[in-house]
Amino acid sequence: MAPSAGVEVQSKFDDVLNLAAERSLHYIQNVHRRNVGPSHAAVTALAGLHEPFPASPCDPSEIIARLDEIGSAATTTNTGGRYFGFVNGGILPTALAAHWLAGAWNQNVALRAMSPIGAELEDVVLGWICEALGLPADCAGGLVSCATTASFTSLVTARQALLERAGWNVAEDGMFGAPPIEVVVGGEAHASVLKALSLAGFGSKRVTIVEADSQGRMRADKLPKLSERTIVCIQAGNVNTGALDPATEICEAAKKQGAWVHVDGAFGLWARVSPKYEHLARGFEQADSWATDAHKWPNAGYDSGVVLVKDGAALRASMGIRAAYLEPGSRREPLHHTPGSSRRARGVELWAAFKSLGRSGLRALIERTCAHAQRFAHGLREAGFEVLNDVVINQVLVSFGVPEMTRKVIERIQEDGTCWCGVTVWQGKTAMRISVSSWATTEADVERSLAAMTRIARECPAK
Ligand SMILES: *Cc1c(COP(=O)(O)O)cnc(C)c1O
Repeated sequence: MAPSAGVEVQSKFDDVLNLAAERSLHYIQNVHRRNVGPSHAAVTALAGLHEPFPASPCDPSEIIARLDEIGSAATTTNTGGRYFGFVNGGILPTALAAHWLAGAWNQNVALRAMSPIGAELEDVVLGWICEALGLPADCAGGLVSCATTASFTSLVTARQALLERAGWNVAEDGMFGAPPIEVVVGGEAHASVLKALSLAGFGSKRVTIVEADSQGRMRADKLPKLSERTIVCIQAGNVNTGALDPATEICEAAKKQGAWVHVDGAFGLWARVSPKYEHLARGFEQADSWATDAHKWPNAGYDSGVVLVKDGAALRASMGIRAAYLEPGSRREPLHHTPGSSRRARGVELWAAFKSLGRSGLRALIERTCAHAQRFAHGLREAGFEVLNDVVINQVLVSFGVPEMTRKVIERIQEDGTCWCGVTVWQGKTAMRISVSSWATTEADVERSLAAMTRIARECPAK
């Protein structure tokens, strides 16, 4: 090959990448100055994106410039410190930088042969996650888009494993005529678990719902009779209150009967990395499968879900794909562990995020965000507003009065732009939900947001 081969093609990247880097830095540097939510005008301007399929090529620099002009303004700024919506994480600087580099690599991590680096980093981070979360070291796992997919993967694996024990091959023979499987969920299970159950053919309405307490924890004393054909779905971190199910009692009861326990630990499972919160999160290590997110509390960036299964052979039996050119090698092949095949190199950002935090940094991130949540709860109570939940980790629910009033205040807080919080309904009460999930949130961010919330709530006319 001539030394100059490809130079012309490669040089096409120069201008456009430099421009994207420049615009990205400008965005990041200005996140603190702008409104946390996008303006109405910025959202309306998105209509300008709708045009017929482009007839001819557009100049690369123009494309990036237009994307920045129309797009950046219409983002919710979760990379700043005052976005408290849903349970959305920010992105650690090193994770973003690694994401850029990995973009240049454009790796497909379906198979080790397609991306040795991508596959190796998956091995490394899956081991690290088990270690950090105190889960069995020999778990098998996969990197998926989100906790919903991770739960789906787990439930399909549980389905296949339990039916296999009953002498039924669900992969080949399907669910029709299969021995029934009972599914047990808590009364405050996340909607994504019900979606995953429905995708897996269990039916979201067919499940047995166990009463939850006032914080949303499944009541272990209300568990139905379990058997070796039961799947029990428990939760580490209720999306509203942050409360964690009593895993020790539930897992012990399930173990005795040979039932499968699946944990939806999208964010709350990470409480296990802190000795201060570990007591809330005991017992989850006794489960059979876990779903969690690295894009929430660990701040690894989107999209980054993780599935872990204690019985690795069961995961591979349900997710393995058979084809002549996919002979299982002696090492872990990513595509035999997830519903999908081709995928981007999610392990890159995870590796960079955990490397940049270390155990101490991850623990500090968890503890700092929980302390911020405590400050929010305290400040709002002092200002005379009702905090609806026991603030055990990073979630706070506050009511500003009757439902219409609470909704009005939330709307005004969003318009004001100092911070961003969403609405929820907790056990019949309308509330504003504050989720402190970003590494970037400082004490000053909390004070500024708290001041805006109380000012707006007091000014809001009752009618
Ligand atoms: C966010 C969340 C989910 C869903 O996570 P995705 O990554 O959006 O799929 C599931 N369960 C709980 C408790 C959550 O907080």
